[in-house]
Amino acid sequence: MKIIYTVEQMRLWHKGERQKGKKIGFVPTMGYLHEGHLSLVEAAKCENDTVVMSIFVNPLQFGPNEDYKTYPRDIERDTHLAEKAGVDAIFIPEVNEMYTYYPQLTTVEVKDISERLCGASRPGHFTGVTTVVTKLFNIVQPDAAYFGQKDYQQVQVIKQMVADLNMPVRVISVPIKRETDGLAMSSRNTYLSEKERQEALCLNEALLLCKDSYEKGEKNAEILKEIMVSRIRKEPSASIDYIEICDADTLKPVDKITKPTAVALAVKIGRTRLIDNMVIRGEK
Ligand code: AMP
Repeated sequence: MKIIYTVEQMRLWHKGERQKGKKIGFVPTMGYLHEGHLSLVEAAKCENDTVVMSIFVNPLQFGPNEDYKTYPRDIERDTHLAEKAGVDAIFIPEVNEMYTYYPQLTTVEVKDISERLCGASRPGHFTGVTTVVTKLFNIVQPDAAYFGQKDYQQVQVIKQMVADLNMPVRVISVPIKRETDGLAMSSRNTYLSEKERQEALCLNEALLLCKDSYEKGEKNAEILKEIMVSRIRKEPSASIDYIEICDADTLKPVDKITKPTAVALAVKIGRTRLIDNMVIRGEK
């Protein structure tokens, strides 16, 4: 596996692969890899000749009071895991390599869809994401890029950006990887104490209760939300940031589930903010 630190090296590597006629799959991450990240690599390997992973904790997508400084990092372990998973090249730029001027003057912003859900509680977050993803797409120039459905809104925002700006990249969404007890895998799960880890199961359990009620005939979004709220309120360390039931593409809230719908939530367990979601196909 080739380890690449600079934009110039990345471009050279990319040029070489292209000359060999290879199709390039790209997996952007912030590192501290888990099986969720590795499932993106697996999907990328199935559909491409060569796979690049980036590891970059992007300061631009963190708010001033968020965990940029303490975000878990372990490049040695990540490099080993990426190599084992069959990644061909790993791009690990420093902040001053990605941002010659920080904050830079140019940003990429996707309106509306970025302002909902997580965007409402993390202002500027998605502008940070779309700006760094645009830069990474320009540097790596992949044919296809793989993102986890775990960050449902992120995938929708990036799909919108790619469509609006005619970026020549296929955006692929990969299903959520969960621990055996249902907790969605996340690098931030390492922040949880043993007790909080147990309480964190309420996110997935609330989604399952919602699905179950929907399948039994309940289509009203307010009632479904109430069911989820009461499940989460049972946990002493849990505080709800948002629970939304929204159109699966536009993320606009819906009153009733009649077509593809995303049920998304963000909950703080102690000081750790966790997200999870589920898509319901919806029938009239
Ligand atoms: P992150 O390192 O948290 O920025 O995540 C990098 C990529 O991995 C994003 O596209 C995430 O959506 C994806 N990802 C994170 N956790 C999971 C998971 N549990 N299952 C599938 N994909 C995930």
